[in-house]
Amino acid sequence: MTTEETLLNWARPEIVSLKAYQSAREEFVGGTREMILLDANENPYPSSVNRYPDPMQVELKKRIAQHKQTAEDHIFVGNGSDEVLSLLMQIFCVPNKDKAILLPPTFGMYQVCADIHGVETLSVPLTEDFQLDLAAIRAAYAHQPKMIFIPSPNNPTGNCFDREQIISIVKEFNGLVVVDEAYVEFAENQSLLPELSQYPNLVVVQTFSKAQGMAGVRLGMCFAHPTVIALFNRIKAPYNINSLTQKAVIEQLDKQSLVAKQVEEMLSEKARVISTLSKIDFIQKIYPSDANFFLVKVDDSQQRYHQFIEQGIVVRNPSKQTLCANTLRISIGTPAENNALLNACNQMNHS
Ligand code: PMP
Repeated sequence: MTTEETLLNWARPEIVSLKAYQSAREEFVGGTREMILLDANENPYPSSVNRYPDPMQVELKKRIAQHKQTAEDHIFVGNGSDEVLSLLMQIFCVPNKDKAILLPPTFGMYQVCADIHGVETLSVPLTEDFQLDLAAIRAAYAHQPKMIFIPSPNNPTGNCFDREQIISIVKEFNGLVVVDEAYVEFAENQSLLPELSQYPNLVVVQTFSKAQGMAGVRLGMCFAHPTVIALFNRIKAPYNINSLTQKAVIEQLDKQSLVAKQVEEMLSEKARVISTLSKIDFIQKIYPSDANFFLVKVDDSQQRYHQFIEQGIVVRNPSKQTLCANTLRISIGTPAENNALLNACNQMNHS
């Protein structure tokens, strides 16, 4: 089988044979000539948003391709990575038949997407120190899962997984390996994006919600083999990325030196916060973090969570997750917000 045949063979047959909807803006692809657009039943009176957005996000993908040093046909953009993850399951998993491997503690949306799409999940917990349990992952291959979700840096633990171990999974796994790099800009470990051309079963997901500071515009990116990208384009909602988002993200791509400065500041703030918190008695452990948040083990997470709320600070309590009993996940804020966190911890320590 060719690479393309293998990938199409993994996808759901009804998606492969789907006759995709063709939107008005796709049916007529104009040249440079100004046309009168009477094809999409829009309100003709001009405003910044009276026309449908570009359904294929041509300019946006061109700019992302330059920024990420990849090609446009390797990119799909979604309404946040959440949409990308959901579509991936829709494309590749036959409901009530196909399976996916999750590595708890992990990002909660993978399980929600799996539940929505009737995908059985095979849970392979991380080791006690939040690393990949390669032997257990390999044992799960026997159930013939269609995909495995590997967030690196991981949420909620904050650490990256070993790059060589991820690559060994990509090499040996007979299905899609989805590496979710939502926090990659904060990590020293390099993105797996440069490996894409070598491994057709590798899917890299990134987002504008974290380091790029654009959680409100909802723009997630999927980088994959063009055959996989073509399947996304078949099933996506015709105008899944609105015109305000497309414009805002294109503008953001010109502000990368500001983003780099903000990332640097968040990382130095993280070091400052962690070093101060290491002296707080009720914090028993601070786990290594490659992201803009970190996980701590405390004496009583429920009690401490509510004490933070009383101090006007909201953190996340992932204690119900595998291996996360009595933990809290804390994001890095502005220096003033971080000072407020440190003051609150001091107060709580002495109460
Ligand atoms: N992946 C991971 C690992 C995340 O932590 C998050 C956000 N919490 C997402 C994806 C979703 O990001 P987006 O805002 O792009 O939907």
